[in-house]
Amino acid sequence: TQYVYRFGGGVSEGGSGDKNLLGGKGANLAEMASIGLPVPPGFTISTEMCTRYYDEGEQFPDELKQQVADGIAHVEKVTGKIFGDASDPLLVSVRSGARVSMPGMMDTVLNLGLNDETVQGLAAISEDPRFAWDSYRRFIQMYCDVVLGLDHGAFEEALEIAKEDKGIYLDTEMTAEDWQALVASYKAIAEKELGRPFPQDPQDQLWGAIGAVFGSWQAERAKVYRRINDIPGDWGTAVNVQAMVFGNMGETSATGVAFTRDPATGEHAYYGEWLINAQGEDVVAGIRTPQYLTKAARERANAKPASMEEGMPETFAELAKVFDLLEAHYRDMQDIEFTVERGTLWMLQTRSGKRTAKAALKIAVDMAAEGLISEEEAVLRVDPAALDQLLHPTLDPEAERDVIAKGLPASPGAASGIVVFDADTAEKRAEQGADVILVRVETSPEDIHGMHAAKGILTARGGMTSHAAVVARGMGRPCVSGAGSVAIDAKEKVFRVAGREVREGDIVTLDGATGEIMAGEVATVQPELAGDFGQLMVWADKSRRLKVRTNAETPADCRTAREFGAEGIGLCRTEHMFFDAARITAVRQMILATDEAGRREALAKLLPEQRADFKQIFEIMAGLPVTIRLLDPPLHEFLPHEDSEFEEVAKAADVSVDTLKRRVNELHEFNPMLGHRGCRLGITYPEIYEIQARAIFEAALLVTEETGAAPFPEVMVPLVGTRRELELMKAVIDAAAAAVFAEQGKSVDYHVGTMIELPRAALRAGQIAEVGEFFSFGTNDLTQTTLGVSRDDAGRFLTQYVDKGIYPRDPFVSIDIEGVGELIRIAAERGRATRPDIKLGICGEHGGDPASIAFCEEVGLDYVSASPYRVPIARLAAAQAAL
Ligand code: PEP
Ligand code: MG
Repeated sequence: TQYVYRFGGGVSEGGSGDKNLLGGKGANLAEMASIGLPVPPGFTISTEMCTRYYDEGEQFPDELKQQVADGIAHVEKVTGKIFGDASDPLLVSVRSGARVSMPGMMDTVLNLGLNDETVQGLAAISEDPRFAWDSYRRFIQMYCDVVLGLDHGAFEEALEIAKEDKGIYLDTEMTAEDWQALVASYKAIAEKELGRPFPQDPQDQLWGAIGAVFGSWQAERAKVYRRINDIPGDWGTAVNVQAMVFGNMGETSATGVAFTRDPATGEHAYYGEWLINAQGEDVVAGIRTPQYLTKAARERANAKPASMEEGMPETFAELAKVFDLLEAHYRDMQDIEFTVERGTLWMLQTRSGKRTAKAALKIAVDMAAEGLISEEEAVLRVDPAALDQLLHPTLDPEAERDVIAKGLPASPGAASGIVVFDADTAEKRAEQGADVILVRVETSPEDIHGMHAAKGILTARGGMTSHAAVVARGMGRPCVSGAGSVAIDAKEKVFRVAGREVREGDIVTLDGATGEIMAGEVATVQPELAGDFGQLMVWADKSRRLKVRTNAETPADCRTAREFGAEGIGLCRTEHMFFDAARITAVRQMILATDEAGRREALAKLLPEQRADFKQIFEIMAGLPVTIRLLDPPLHEFLPHEDSEFEEVAKAADVSVDTLKRRVNELHEFNPMLGHRGCRLGITYPEIYEIQARAIFEAALLVTEETGAAPFPEVMVPLVGTRRELELMKAVIDAAAAAVFAEQGKSVDYHVGTMIELPRAALRAGQIAEVGEFFSFGTNDLTQTTLGVSRDDAGRFLTQYVDKGIYPRDPFVSIDIEGVGELIRIAAERGRATRPDIKLGICGEHGGDPASIAFCEEVGLDYVSASPYRVPIARLAAAQAAL
């Protein structure tokens, strides 16, 4: 089997289509090499090898050894240098590269091949021996950290002591001799910690690094990242071994990262950062503050140090040509790493650039307008889930702002919350329901869980391409980075800026679009839905077959949903109207009544209220279908539980405290989710459903009369398991309709249907469809009842289930296609066999989840119904599913 794929020097054994095999980085290095771009030669060990490595107990097979040797020979041939050669040594980098990029998650070793002998050779051929010794000490430290698992603290301490002894402050003041002496200390530290000398044989170094890269796939932080981003654990990583090029060989050398368009705004302009005389990690890690790439960006930021466009005009022009070529070739915005070694440009990486939702939209719409991609491709380019970032409020430009500092606008959006200074606290406080802003000097991959839990991220150090910035943009978290004036004391849990103190728990607001940091909470405004967003939605709507409805019951939600393009209501949960503070007393009287007459008396008070609710909804939805679900939750949910409440409630409901307590006791259920809820309430107390139905029909007639436009009510019965249940409930509803229509001498069309949320209902869908005119899959309950997992208790163990690969994703978030999906398929098939024109929809939370929507398209449902803010996500996901 071929495990090693070579690239560079006119050879290319792969291309951008080989991401699964070569990882993203390896595939694109091969692709760049094949289109003639300057790529340092190297080879990629495939992800298949990673899988085999783990299958065989973390051993390398013999056939790999030969292939790696051939790979090294290829690099030697192209560079004319020999690995381990004492006079002109070949040095290599060893980097991970999974199918999808996992920024900062996995390991890298640079300058590999240096030892006591080769460092002399490198010193002899470089202008300045200082460079060779600096490279060697970096290598020892990196290798010890990444491959040998030693703590880097001891090395940093040794460096500090060396500098103190010499009375110097900056690394750049260290001479060749200083670095050489430090190398000796580093080696001593390594030997002491390891109990054996630092590995001198380049072959040992190489195999150690390859093993470490494979090993990093199973590191804790990589697992967390995969969980957050739904990346399967069995993909594995590839290993890229590549000839080193040096951006730190003096003033004609440089390194940088760039995007072909602005990843924050989508603006069509080169965007990036560079550093003269530096190695790649210096830019990304935020150790030195990088400079602007273009003159325009530098001027806009009012910055002094020369941009690359000004400082290295010729190389910049060459680079700009590469940018254009890459963008045209990949037909997408590229994220690029490059190095200039003594005036020669080298491309180290290209990939589709991560971008904010705003930028994704703008780039997709612009590229379609430029003719680079089609409208359909533009629709496919935007991740529906990322739209979420755009649909939420931004800071009100009119609101007062108490700006205390400014940093870089690293990831847009506004966030307010309490300040915390470490990732664990961020996670803990967020779990308790707080909105938190994570404040760090700089972030590292270890902070990933805290960044995910936070509403916003603030760092004192690091540029626009720092770890914090890249990760925050990917997660859609607002982020302000590099706020240099903010002095953070994480131990004391306080930051100080401009003579002010902000302590843990104080509220701040971040504006990720401007970089402003404000004290307190700042008011927000609704997002702008026209422009690029509107354009993309027009294209999406052209392509989709599934209708998109919303789950809503308040007038405000209904209006929001219509603005977002909802084509009807798929689920109006009427119990939400019963919880209203003004009505709960009547609801309680109904529950506490001892007979039907008593219940009817209380229901008579609720009737006009319900009628008014429905009237408003019908008006807002103006003729679009409105599915109204009759009362679903168990009655005890409406009664008090706290001792302190009993007296007041008893008084309001005009019963004794004893009566109230007795009734609460009677109604107590061990398993309310499987108890007296759904249509079981209607079966035992038909008058409840009767009055709700009456309210619906009276409201429908009123709206018809007032507006001339007839609403289309769909009356939905919850938690049905048998045909007979639905038959009984439909009789109640039809009788209410007949009564209202007779009283008023007018009628409206309506349908009666049911939710499919029990496995029995799915299996008996053929019979149930004899009565029901539509089905709406209530996948929240259908998931709970199919999996036998309580939707209210699942949180305690489900993450483990996902971690251990039992379910690929949380089944309450994304449909369990194999199980729940199978029941949906069966129900759709059997329902249609009985009633070919039966209307089929989904109204569980899954109705707003793109993967579940793709499944609904496949099964051929008629519509999905999602909460208002997810309506645009569903429209886009439905279009993508259809394309
Ligand atoms: C469902 O069960 O999927 C559903 C939509 O109903 P509820 O969440 O109200 O139980
Ligand atoms: Mg339900």
